[in-house]
Amino acid sequence: MQLVDSHCHLDFDEFRDRIPAVLASMAGAGVSHALCISVTLAEFPGVLALAERYPNLYATVGVHPDYPDEGEIRAEDLVRLADHPRIRAIGETGLDYYRLTGDLEWQRQRFRAHIRAARACGKPLVVHTRAAAEDTLRIMREEGAGEAGGVMHCFTETLEVARAAVDMGFHVSFSGIVTFKNAGSLREVAKALPLERILVETDAPYLAPVPHRGKVNEPAYVRHVAETIAAIRGLSLEALADATTANFFRLFRLTESETLV
Ligand SMILES: [Zn+2]
Ligand SMILES: [Zn+2]
Repeated sequence: MQLVDSHCHLDFDEFRDRIPAVLASMAGAGVSHALCISVTLAEFPGVLALAERYPNLYATVGVHPDYPDEGEIRAEDLVRLADHPRIRAIGETGLDYYRLTGDLEWQRQRFRAHIRAARACGKPLVVHTRAAAEDTLRIMREEGAGEAGGVMHCFTETLEVARAAVDMGFHVSFSGIVTFKNAGSLREVAKALPLERILVETDAPYLAPVPHRGKVNEPAYVRHVAETIAAIRGLSLEALADATTANFFRLFRLTESETLV
């Protein structure tokens, strides 16, 4: 059985000096690969360094919508930074009207710049959306995000929103939230979507799944996310793992030799 973690932040302080142990526990849980997600350009070199050092870690480049002080992000800068064999996606990007309020036009402009960069360099998008589903889908349509494709990460919206993203050619990724007791409606979304469009992630160090809820999350725990989705879909863990791992390899274009670790 081979699982992957499609979204984690291993450059964060929680993992400082602990990467070898985190990788060992990943291996012990059958988690072969992880995608390390950039949130600012200042921290991007640390994310890339992980992907350059460890063969089963890959990276993205982008600026998260929750960082207002990063200023204007230009598509051409993202394209230049993405021109590296270990960079497999643009993001995370998107809209977050939950954490920040007020005039968020800068957030929408930043999202548009990321979509343009993804189209220009031919790499998929990692999209974060919170309390902003309508604007997120509208901007994705207006900017032709479907041409780049990508994933709606840490999905918490309705089935209608998920289906709209899938119709645009996107994947939908579920985090530990799907294991939480009060997440019944999200489990319905995870049950209803086509299997070939589902990914699993941790968003570590955040959102540790049950039974680790409240602790520092890590890629090994993606197994609990996969177990929950397998159970609600009436599949074995192996079948769910095989499908989501194949989806990950296809979306982020891992070559056959890269899939073996
Ligand atoms: Zn996010
Ligand atoms: Zn994230």
